[in-house]
Amino acid sequence: MRVIDAARIRASFANVSVRERKALPLPDLDAVEWESIDFLGWRDPKQPLVGYIVTMIDDEPVGLLMRQAEQTPRGRTLCVWCADVHLPNDVVMFSTKRAGAAGRRGDTIGTYVCAQFECNRNARRKPRTAYVGFDVEAARQSRIAACRSNVERFVRDVLATR
Ligand SMILES: [Zn+2]
Repeated sequence: MRVIDAARIRASFANVSVRERKALPLPDLDAVEWESIDFLGWRDPKQPLVGYIVTMIDDEPVGLLMRQAEQTPRGRTLCVWCADVHLPNDVVMFSTKRAGAAGRRGDTIGTYVCAQFECNRNARRKPRTAYVGFDVEAARQSRIAACRSNVERFVRDVLATR
């Protein structure tokens, strides 16, 4: 992902109110390893159920406010984005307001995602070797690509007007 500055990140949010946009707490952008992520994800330090993601869609950053559902999923659930089968972290249900008028009417989309948005790291971990001759790097690259396209599909769905 390319480096994006604070002003662009703040302006990129597609499903927030004026008040929410002003209050957006940004992460330490200097500490972000931009070349190792396909989306930027962080939790709100003051509102424990709120999280934020920003990714590039058609070369423009798009940010979404994500709200964690109060109830935790029964049993262990796979993250829809990184689909990490080793479940190294909690996966929770987030509901996200659709962009525009639909969102203002209360229309949301739900998805199961890693609680702290660990997906970038999970997708980049070296897969366990499945058999002799297994191409570890190719498997890793295809997981990264799959994660990227899963996130993109979700964001496009949120942006879609209906
Ligand atoms: Zn994940």
